[in-house]
Amino acid sequence: MHFTCTTPLYYANAAPHMGSAYPTIAVDCLTRYYRLLGYQVLMVTGTDEHGEKIATAALKQGLDPQTHCDQIAAEFQRLWQVLNIKYDRFIRTNDPRHAPVVQEFFQRVWARGDIYRAAYEGLYCVDCEEYKDPKDLIQDLCPIHRKPVFLRQEENYFFALSKYQTALEEHFARHPDFVQPVIRFNEVKGWLKEGLRDFSISRAAVRWGIPLPPDPEQTIYVWFDALLGYLTALLAPDDEPCLKNALAGGWPAVHVVGKDILRFHAVYWPAMLLSAGLPLPERIFGHGYLTKDGLKMGKSLGNVLDPFALVEEFGADAVRYYFLKEIEFGQDGDFVRTRFIHTLNADLANDLGNLLNRTLGLLRKNCNNQIPTVTIPLTDPLRQQTEAMTQQTAQAYEGLHFPRACESALEIARFGNGYIDQRAPWKLFKEGHRVEAEAVLYAVLEAVRIAAVLLAPVIPELSGRIWSQLGFAPAAYAQLTWATTEWGGLPSGQTVAQAVPIFLRLEQETLA
Ligand SMILES: [Zn+2]
Repeated sequence: MHFTCTTPLYYANAAPHMGSAYPTIAVDCLTRYYRLLGYQVLMVTGTDEHGEKIATAALKQGLDPQTHCDQIAAEFQRLWQVLNIKYDRFIRTNDPRHAPVVQEFFQRVWARGDIYRAAYEGLYCVDCEEYKDPKDLIQDLCPIHRKPVFLRQEENYFFALSKYQTALEEHFARHPDFVQPVIRFNEVKGWLKEGLRDFSISRAAVRWGIPLPPDPEQTIYVWFDALLGYLTALLAPDDEPCLKNALAGGWPAVHVVGKDILRFHAVYWPAMLLSAGLPLPERIFGHGYLTKDGLKMGKSLGNVLDPFALVEEFGADAVRYYFLKEIEFGQDGDFVRTRFIHTLNADLANDLGNLLNRTLGLLRKNCNNQIPTVTIPLTDPLRQQTEAMTQQTAQAYEGLHFPRACESALEIARFGNGYIDQRAPWKLFKEGHRVEAEAVLYAVLEAVRIAAVLLAPVIPELSGRIWSQLGFAPAAYAQLTWATTEWGGLPSGQTVAQAVPIFLRLEQETLA
């Protein structure tokens, strides 16, 4: 079974920001989950490197577009490294293997009779690389970029999108989960209802791009080119670059994209694939925007959240945890520093970390650091809770409900804290009820071990630290599978490590 999941191919006009880190963390988490399940996983990310805006951004820095793109792509890769993103493919759309795939695709659509040449005049947003419908403008500005649009007239090649109106309607009706969440699917259906209009897929004035096969004076429209990056990315390293090999490499994929580029992915891209006679993506997930302290982030506002700085201050796991746990994926989400610190302290340092720490302390004092030999009955409430929450976490991951996945795993730790308080094993030891006391310690440590597996897709390093404190070798954690969530995996007699806090409490700055 394969599972291919893509992040957007980030536009290489500027360095990565938190808005690009966020969906990448989500896709990394999802693909790590499917890896645990034993799927053959491909996580695809990369950069979209063609188009006018990139040529202009390079020029502004006094660079040629290639050098500029090399630098930006390297920055993205560096960010993925510090965020502990385990991607399999990083596709750059100016990879020499990409152009033949795009041109072959273009030829198929051309042979289908879906491309024609026409003059076009319209209002163009360079930042969107798209002609805008005058009725969508807000005070004459692009509704997404809030920047002026320009009247542009070109002799272009067009894709006959309108021919695919019915086919898309039918596909949507047959696949009620094609776009998620539901509010985003409704948006997409709304666009369809307005009626699809053909769109231009070439640019006469742009040199930085892939030449159009029938007319090399023009380049292929950056979106038509970039979407195909999802296919080129699937080529194995020594594959001949062609559509057949790309499709065999793990298509169809699940796409995760921001809501601002949903139209390209949920309408244009499926229609292009239908025209080329190729299978459509499996699912498209549209996530929301990030704000900081309730405000839209922007250079001009001076409130940009730098992901590098955040990771440097708090570590990758903390950043991953906050954005997955605190934001319902699909909705807009807010970053507030005090809330960030509070969430991490409450969940990771207190609920999870303290439970492990105090239990290991009791084990040292009473059991010589060895996991006791006991059997926990099926009816044990902590065992039951752990088993129920394991199922709930799996369901949450599958639906991309990351907050619920974290919450379910955390619930085990919260329940465990109540369980140990109530049973007071320190007292049981003193009173000579050794068997009962050892059973409590075993149950708690086993529950923590399982919670760590459930959280491994979100906080891979921290979960690894939990496993090593429980006495497992690094190789055991490296080979983790979902099957290890089964109760009873903590070996009796195993010697645990010295108890050290797995997550240090963060200091909340005193607020003026
Ligand atoms: Zn725009």
